[in-house]
Amino acid sequence: MIADYLRCGFIYRAFGGLSTCRLCDCQNGALERSDGVWYWPDGLVHYVTEHHVRLPPEFVDHALEYLDRLGDAEADLDWWRSQGSSRDG
Ligand SMILES: [Zn+2]
Repeated sequence: MIADYLRCGFIYRAFGGLSTCRLCDCQNGALERSDGVWYWPDGLVHYVTEHHVRLPPEFVDHALEYLDRLGDAEADLDWWRSQGSSRDG
């Protein structure tokens, strides 16, 4: 769940070169992602999924609370319907 959360952060910054994993030397992203509160290197998900690195509990708690709020949110269907689609035009 945390790995998916890391993958879904919006792109905060991009860099010209790829970072390298400090454990296995693979190329590991050139972006930084954010959720509006925290930001992290794009390659952080690699450390979590491939090297089983655990993130600070403060971040994990924040991410889980954020996902809970998203799950509880109600979709504004009127807004979506008002956007129309290319098929309507
Ligand atoms: Zn690695």
